[in-house]
Amino acid sequence: MHNMPPPVTKVLETFTPQLFRHAVAETVSVLRSGQVAAIPTETVYGLAADAFNPQAVRRIFQIKGRPAVNPLIVHVASMAMLRDCAGTVPESVHRLAEFFWPGPLTVVLPRSEKISDDITGGGGTVAIRWPGHPFFRDVIRELGNPVAAPSANLSNRLSPTTVEHVLDQLNGLIPLVVDAGPCAVGIESTVLDLSGTVPAILRPGIISADALRAVLPDLSEGITSKDRTVSRSPGTMPIHYAPVAPLRLFHFTSESDLIQLAGENDAGPGQTIIMTHLPRPLAAPWKDCIVFPFDPEAYARALYGELFRSDKAQPRLILIESPPDGTEWAGVSDRIKRAAAPRS
Ligand code: AMP
Ligand code: MG
Repeated sequence: MHNMPPPVTKVLETFTPQLFRHAVAETVSVLRSGQVAAIPTETVYGLAADAFNPQAVRRIFQIKGRPAVNPLIVHVASMAMLRDCAGTVPESVHRLAEFFWPGPLTVVLPRSEKISDDITGGGGTVAIRWPGHPFFRDVIRELGNPVAAPSANLSNRLSPTTVEHVLDQLNGLIPLVVDAGPCAVGIESTVLDLSGTVPAILRPGIISADALRAVLPDLSEGITSKDRTVSRSPGTMPIHYAPVAPLRLFHFTSESDLIQLAGENDAGPGQTIIMTHLPRPLAAPWKDCIVFPFDPEAYARALYGELFRSDKAQPRLILIESPPDGTEWAGVSDRIKRAAAPRS
């Protein structure tokens, strides 16, 4: 048909109790019908599907263009739901839950027979999180099933922390997005593997290794590659969470070194956006200079929004100051390094 209107994505607000309850009910009915919806979480906006409906789960992969080997996180709202998804639940999960759940921590456990290959990428483990966002929590409870949800973006693009970001990539591709304002954490959850002999961080996040070690003294040093357990696609995803413009890291020495670095990347100052975590005395006519808060939590909250805004300005290059060392900065550092990874 020629004059069919282009599909539009419905946006629901949540800023009154009535709107909130209405949006929960609509989301649950979309998920029950086997469709997907973009919904707020405390980390980033998620693209949600009923985890026990394999066809709905496959829709997530289709819409995102996500490789089938990249497994999804399953979200629960009780320990009973977690036991339904996991084959075995080590004692450490209960200790971790006491300190960090509901919240931005994901644990990888042996999977139960209820979890399909579509979710795990074919592997024997499943990643599970109990999210803290009240909207997400109510959706899971009212649906009565766990909810599979990756970030609500196209594969390898920036993760969304506002509804504007979601619509920029997925408008017309999904029936519904629910607006609850900017995400409080701003980067994806910490992923902790509890399926091996020693607990190991697969993806750093705002819950740091030091915080986890207080509860899990045997946590392994350093970050283990997430490909260790998922494995079928070794080295496939160094790039992730990326803006459109190339992004390079720098250690600040002087402005003339920055101008030289821009030149080595075929960009003049007027085509280059600078991002730092400390105010720097810059005088050249840079396209923009952005100073992030010198605090890992506030930095994480701002990161994707500033990358999104910078993308819209269409710079030729983004230069970003290497964040400080320390486990509390590991989540921010990881996302910046992935954004800066070479593209194929
Ligand atoms: P996203 O949903 O985009 O935040 O990404 C989910 C991430 O969780 C994956 O890219 C992996 O890093 C991790 N993950 C999910 N399931 C597993 C699993 N079974 N084993 C190891 N890592 C997993
Ligand atoms: Mg993602």
